[in-house]
Amino acid sequence: MAEKIEVTFEAMNAAVEVRLTEGALRLIREDSLASVGKETGGILIGRYAADGNIAIITAATERPADSSSGRAWFQRGNKGLTAKLRARWLHGEYYLGEWHSHPDGAPDPSSNDIREMRSISIDASYRCPKPIMIIAGTSNKSVRISVTILESGRLLRLRPVLSPRASVTDRSIIPGTNDKGAP
Ligand SMILES: [Zn+2]
Repeated sequence: MAEKIEVTFEAMNAAVEVRLTEGALRLIREDSLASVGKETGGILIGRYAADGNIAIITAATERPADSSSGRAWFQRGNKGLTAKLRARWLHGEYYLGEWHSHPDGAPDPSSNDIREMRSISIDASYRCPKPIMIIAGTSNKSVRISVTILESGRLLRLRPVLSPRASVTDRSIIPGTNDKGAP
């Protein structure tokens, strides 16, 4: 498939990798910066490769219109998501998780964020036993991204793999320094 992988995140002690395409990363960054003072978010769509060890996120959706949010909370709506997912199913892609922003904040998952991941993983309607959560922490014009996956009940905070291709001037893709497994 002719998709450009922009950034790859990997777990330190597990063979888990999450790859983000340029389009997915751009949507997360732009929508996060545009939503000043209020969290925003959507879902992550893509597929697994390499026996399920590599998640390739090909799309992040914009905020569904029936979402609600505040300074430090985001309740994602559902409007339009079924149609988007249907269109992707034809290409073997499906729901992989959630993304949301932390305006003027660090991209660290809150206890609510972690609870949400756990409930998604056991909610049969999502069919997503290992949800991925991407958080975009903004400050002024820059965005820091964190990627967390719930794998066999364990929360793994992934860290970026810096490829030689990555532009060193693009600081916004450099996530937080906390790459220890979350509690
Ligand atoms: Zn959050």
